[in-house]
Amino acid sequence: DYNKDNKRRVLLKLSGEMFGGGAVGLDVQVLTRVSAEIKAAVNQGVQVAIVVGGGNFFRGVELQNAGMDRARADYMGMLGTVINAVALQDFLEHAGVPSRVQTAINMAQIAEPYIPLRSIRHLEKGRVVIFGAGAGMPYFSTDTVSAQRALELRCDEILVGKNGVDGVYTADPNKDPSAKKLDFLTYQDALAKGLRVVDAAAFSMCMDNNMNMRIFGMGEEGAVTRALLGEKIGTVVST
Ligand code: UDP
Repeated sequence: DYNKDNKRRVLLKLSGEMFGGGAVGLDVQVLTRVSAEIKAAVNQGVQVAIVVGGGNFFRGVELQNAGMDRARADYMGMLGTVINAVALQDFLEHAGVPSRVQTAINMAQIAEPYIPLRSIRHLEKGRVVIFGAGAGMPYFSTDTVSAQRALELRCDEILVGKNGVDGVYTADPNKDPSAKKLDFLTYQDALAKGLRVVDAAAFSMCMDNNMNMRIFGMGEEGAVTRALLGEKIGTVVST
């Protein structure tokens, strides 16, 4: 039985940009704040699984543009996500939230391997599960892995936390003052308009399997808690 307690279970995607506070490395203040916000939701019984990005360290495409072999560059990108996963675990534990890291590339001294039924067991026990190393495969992104994990772990929805924007707009709100925020969007529209807030592979996996996604801004104090608790912030993308 994949959700025997029938509790709200969500998959939160945190980008590398968030971890770095916009720079390379780790932003301690952001990590402290986000951990406290996750704790508030966990304390209310929400089961939280987290996929972490790694853009604050390396992005495969960028290294490829600089002349590296793409697959090797992608493995470097994946290793960056593991650093973020271990950091988040530390800040969560400091905040008093039990957590486990599971990685798609085995590294037994650092983390458990990804074992879906074991992830579910952790979630049922109130532990936050943090997924590192993406899918363990080059040419994938952590957005796509978020869709896959949310589906396999029978999550109710995917929550995509964004820096700088608080949802999906009709145009780029930083360039066009008449841009309006959308409360709702279909996957078909998102794909047809070529929206890049989340990558196309993730959108289409969610579309094919009927998984809802909420894209929200992490800028405002308390936004992560509100999203985890199911408040209607940001933009919902669905079939
Ligand atoms: N990556 C990969 N396979 C995966 C997940 C990630 O190859 O399954 C690599 C890829 O190079 C990517 C990097 O890891 O650029 C960091 O992940 P991502 O760009 O998704 O992080 P974010 O943009 O969310 O910070």
